[in-house]
Amino acid sequence: MPQLAKRMGRAKPSAIMVVAETAQRLKAEGRDIISFSIGVPNFLPGEHVYAAARKALEADSGQYGSNRGANALLDAFIGHLGRLGLEGYTRNHCATGVGAKHILYNLAEALLDEGDGFAFATPYWTSYMDIAEIVGADIQLLPCPPEQDYKLTPAQLDAALAKKPKLFLFNNPSNPTGMVYTKDEIAALADVIARHPDTWVITDDIYNTMVFDGVGYHNFVQARPELRERVIFVDSLSKTYGMPGWRVGLMAGPESVARAVTVMNSNHITSLPEVVSAAATAALSGPQDVPAQRCAEFQAKRDQVVAALNAIPGVVCPVPQGAFYAFPDVSVAFGKSHEGKVIANDVDLCNALLEAKGVACVPGSAFGEPRGLRISYTCPTPQLAPGLARIQEFFAELA
Ligand code: PMP
Repeated sequence: MPQLAKRMGRAKPSAIMVVAETAQRLKAEGRDIISFSIGVPNFLPGEHVYAAARKALEADSGQYGSNRGANALLDAFIGHLGRLGLEGYTRNHCATGVGAKHILYNLAEALLDEGDGFAFATPYWTSYMDIAEIVGADIQLLPCPPEQDYKLTPAQLDAALAKKPKLFLFNNPSNPTGMVYTKDEIAALADVIARHPDTWVITDDIYNTMVFDGVGYHNFVQARPELRERVIFVDSLSKTYGMPGWRVGLMAGPESVARAVTVMNSNHITSLPEVVSAAATAALSGPQDVPAQRCAEFQAKRDQVVAALNAIPGVVCPVPQGAFYAFPDVSVAFGKSHEGKVIANDVDLCNALLEAKGVACVPGSAFGEPRGLRISYTCPTPQLAPGLARIQEFFAELA
């Protein structure tokens, strides 16, 4: 029998999807399930996005599009970069892909040879690990525990980059922790990056318009414009525009890197579909009230989630300032039991919580931090308070 390629031994289905599927199965069996598992936004884009898609459908040329991305979409993205304070990018610095996940995979393939050093912080978004494994990188993890609010310190980054990894991948706001770096923190990390010229830097900032408390979104390139030569900004319409199924990812960076992603596109996908490109262009260039309004709603939900979690004795939830995730340290539960079942670790905890209370969360080990638990608070608002109350109940019942 022929065998699958060795790399498939390193590729796993996403842990988040596994939990979401269990929750869906229980729901189908008639259980009352509240899902805090998958990070999908609970809103749709504005009507102008659908109008643009319909218009494109009627005028559909039926032809392949540009490998890099439609000019109108690239221009709309450049406009969006300007709103974020990232000026001076042209179409030649940009490329599109089938979601940020695809862009990240293309970048990993374009920038890393097998065995090259690839550094990123824990907790990390699950696919970082899977992409690193599939391309056969030498993975260098930078632990950022709850005691340092899950944030990378300049000293830590300095020590990591001294080992000259080929690529450093940064994520702000963070999935799974919701942490956001302040302007000063970004400036301090940018100073470190400037001292280590041998490393490419990807900044995966797909939640860039979902930042709370007036902290604002900040980027290494704003802090140190010369880093533009090595820093690649990754964006997506999935979360901030409520368009995960449209599959639109974007990047802006050095021309050589945008060209490499374009070459990968020419071999993998050829182009985004015309209708999708038209919808994405409308989202990025049309009224921006949907993302702004959703951000305010998520901030209010964040307050509710953090208050409920920190009210549980022994649970510590650093305050997230962006995205729609909270990542409490729940290790106080380990070694205890619930209804006679021992909770040895985060996976036991998530299973017991789902079984006993019908609440689905993702175990922290899926993100490289087994003391934690990820709560995605995108569920319908009426489910939020009961879901949190069930978590509180569960912890109160631990013996
Ligand atoms: N980066 C981060 C940090 C994410 O959370 C996600 C989606 N969960 C992605 C990238 C991928 O997004 P997309 O839907 O655009 O592929």
